[in-house]
Amino acid sequence: MNTHEYQAKEVLQGYGIPIPKFAVASTVEEIHQGIKSLGQNKLVIKAQVHAGGRGKAGGVKLATSPEEALILAKGMLGMKLVTKQTGKEGVIAHQVMLSEAVDIAKEYYIGCVIDRATAQPILIVSPEGGVEIEEVAERSPEKILTLPIALSGHLRAYQLWRVVKFMGWKGALAKQGMKMVAALAKAFIETDASLLEINPLVVTAQGELLTLDAKLAIDDNALFRQPVLAKYYDPTQMRAAEVEANLHDLAYIALDGEIGCMVNGAGLAMATMDIIKLYGKEPANFLDVGGGATKEKVAAGFKIILSDPNVKAILVNIFGGIMNCTTIAEGIIAAAKELDIHVPLVVRMEGTHVEKGRLLLEESDVKIIPAKDLADAALKVTEGLK
Ligand code: GDP
Ligand code: MN
Repeated sequence: MNTHEYQAKEVLQGYGIPIPKFAVASTVEEIHQGIKSLGQNKLVIKAQVHAGGRGKAGGVKLATSPEEALILAKGMLGMKLVTKQTGKEGVIAHQVMLSEAVDIAKEYYIGCVIDRATAQPILIVSPEGGVEIEEVAERSPEKILTLPIALSGHLRAYQLWRVVKFMGWKGALAKQGMKMVAALAKAFIETDASLLEINPLVVTAQGELLTLDAKLAIDDNALFRQPVLAKYYDPTQMRAAEVEANLHDLAYIALDGEIGCMVNGAGLAMATMDIIKLYGKEPANFLDVGGGATKEKVAAGFKIILSDPNVKAILVNIFGGIMNCTTIAEGIIAAAKELDIHVPLVVRMEGTHVEKGRLLLEESDVKIIPAKDLADAALKVTEGLK
């Protein structure tokens, strides 16, 4: 689950990490109040959206007077932002941040993620901040240092010394930097984050370290034990189909292809996507309806798949185990009654009650293209699209 910059900053503040003073506004009235409470001439106005790259897209602007801050903030409220990370549909900023402007001497990057390769949390730091870390990694990998984080969230003294040396921090800056990096790692572990980054972390003209931008993503599977953070859920920042999927507890990820997939089990879903690619087409989504799916869940899955205008055919691939084939057949029939399934529907079913399931589908008036195995299904769902 993604969060907004101001929410990430609130979390970091709780860990003693220094943040420039800020206010958040979702109405013009709140903009007025925010400007007044900050009492600064120079303010940075920042669109609050679940995406980075705002600077380049007009979502970060500097005001040099309260009057200008008012105009800029009003203009940004409700603005649709299209950044490198949003896709062309963009996202709407329902809130703006007013932040005390900072004189930057240098920008750095510090962040924590789960590293898939080593299957552990890691700290990533770089003296090249303000730009995307992926870019730095490609252009000059020697400017990136990564260190493992213990599951306790505690970084060892020698690790902190390595960071300080790598970043070139000396004296008071080294002390501040160590404190911040240690706090960041602790916050990362304790919030069950999948990503927590400060980019840029800056040294001000006065020689202080400050967090200019922060990003926090929480592992969805840990939200049950993070009730405070779970409240940060903001469906306005997500694709409609993903919000709907969350509502029905379906694991759905929208992709760019033409073939909608409805599968039970994440492994089978990935195998299904692979075989679609093998047959020369692209999947429109990942959808795992889960082991214990109900008729209603299956129907909701169809609705979500069909809401994607790119979908030209649907492949249902079910291995009836915990969920038996009659349930899926009933789900398909119920969904077909309710929705206009206007694209070819290829169904491959195996497992518990498969004969009964097939019979139900045959006897219904839903138009289905039955497949005898996965290869047959992939062939049938892709051949009409050539
Ligand atoms: P992002 O583009 O979505 O990552 O938004 P950021 O919050 O990182 O802002 C983009 C850039 O704007 C930063 O890298 C800074 O260079 C600049 N910026 C943001 N806040 C300030 C500020 O208070 N003072 C100055 N001088 N620049 C700022
Ligand atoms: Mn940034």
